[in-house]
Amino acid sequence: MSVAENLARVRAAIDAACDRADRDPSGVRLLPVSKTVGTDKIIEAYRAGMRIFGENKVQEAASKAAELADRPDLQWAMIGHLQRNKAREVAAFAAEFHALDSRRLAEALQSRLEQADRTLDVFIEVNSSGEPSKFGLPPEEVVDLAAALGELDRLRPRGLMTIAANSPDRGVVEACFVRMTELRRRLQDDPRVIGSYHELSMGMSGDFELAIAHGATTVRIGTAIFGARPPIR
Ligand SMILES: *Cc1c(COP(=O)(O)O)cnc(C)c1O
Repeated sequence: MSVAENLARVRAAIDAACDRADRDPSGVRLLPVSKTVGTDKIIEAYRAGMRIFGENKVQEAASKAAELADRPDLQWAMIGHLQRNKAREVAAFAAEFHALDSRRLAEALQSRLEQADRTLDVFIEVNSSGEPSKFGLPPEEVVDLAAALGELDRLRPRGLMTIAANSPDRGVVEACFVRMTELRRRLQDDPRVIGSYHELSMGMSGDFELAIAHGATTVRIGTAIFGARPPIR
């Protein structure tokens, strides 16, 4: 199937999940994840109406952004773990960053954004499963980071991001999403936290319908749109 057909199928599944959850479909944004995917396929998705793409490697994203720079309305969301020494590159071209997980990284981004005279929409990444292999802050450390972001005016907090447990047990996956909604409530109730943190970036090809049932506002979908990726070496 073509990228356009896959996009239509995924969007229909998102809308159906919204319907089941009694949610307005305009409240769930589809973020196509184009990591490892060539720019020919990204252009196909662009022609089908997509204007922002998720990438997890800075070098790869920056070179795609340069190649597609003649489309000024095309934006990039960095969704993978970031080392501080890559903050400058991200500050130069990304519109969104979904994997903020430390104050030092936030400060590095702030200073690079000042130099570039840009701003960056950010999501704090949460390790909602407790799996040691996963990036993200433990839930109990999230409020402190959110409070610290109040002083970094180049970062625009939008909400929280997570990768749920990769488990065949629906209850285990669901518990991750529930933790995220609870954590969002805690942030919204804490007077030290500035900003609304109303967004939840959660749900991937295998679990986006469940994520929508639990309040996801951005679903990050790669495989179901662009096909299987080559195995990670
Ligand atoms: C690769 C990736 C996705 C998309 O995963 P699929 O299972 O291919 O939909 C979503 N979020 C992050 C952080 C990723 O790295």
